[in-house]
Amino acid sequence: MISELIHVNLQKLFFMMYKTIIQQFIQQNNYPKLQLKGVFFDMDGVLLDSMGKHASAWIQAMQDYNIPFTSEEVYLYEGQPALLTIEEAYQRTFGKKPAAEVAEEFYSLKSYYIDKMDPIGPMKHADKLLQQIKNQGLGAYLVTGSRQPSIIDMLDIYFPNTFQPDHRVTALDDIKGKPAPDPYLKALSIAGIKPWEAVVIENAPLGVESAVAAGIFTIAINTGPLASSILSERGAHIVLDGGMTELNNKWKEISAHLIS
Ligand code: MG
Repeated sequence: MISELIHVNLQKLFFMMYKTIIQQFIQQNNYPKLQLKGVFFDMDGVLLDSMGKHASAWIQAMQDYNIPFTSEEVYLYEGQPALLTIEEAYQRTFGKKPAAEVAEEFYSLKSYYIDKMDPIGPMKHADKLLQQIKNQGLGAYLVTGSRQPSIIDMLDIYFPNTFQPDHRVTALDDIKGKPAPDPYLKALSIAGIKPWEAVVIENAPLGVESAVAAGIFTIAINTGPLASSILSERGAHIVLDGGMTELNNKWKEISAHLIS
């Protein structure tokens, strides 16, 4: 009985807290209101449980090129185009940019290491959240810095009929990558909606920067080893330490303020 009471009161508390955060966001951006129509999903570490494998593959490939690189850096650079990460790490180590063919070879090697590993699984409870979103009549869109078909195609296996080809922004689109706002601005454009009609679900610091720069309400779920404070510092409006499971549990309370 007492635990039920605490649970109900906690839910009310979260409900009020999210209401305040969302009202502040609307005021700061001079938006008329938030009227959610589309939810923009990052892929790695949000829909797919892929970050551990990306980290191993990056480190193996960097070792092959004698470039020092830590697992933490994989998470810090997550979201930006892979070729940029390769260029930056190469430049830092050898004092010059890699030739374009060298960078492409490196990227192929990193992709090869990923493809050699066990298949990537879905993020736990991502399917349940997507079902809630579908039931609310909202559109789901993919906004990823990845351009690896072997990984992007997993979405059709784990979340069939959800991310149609015209609901995807990937690194194959000829635009600037995260942390520039361009990928999320492109998502607004393909969805035909305004920034106050969308919400972004991200896990990476650079992804959060990109979404916030596009003027979109951003929910960060921490699904990796970095401190959650990094996600807040980059501008995330809500940060959930409990990853996709916590977002799935709280979606009803959060979205109640987004669909008015
Ligand atoms: Mg990610």
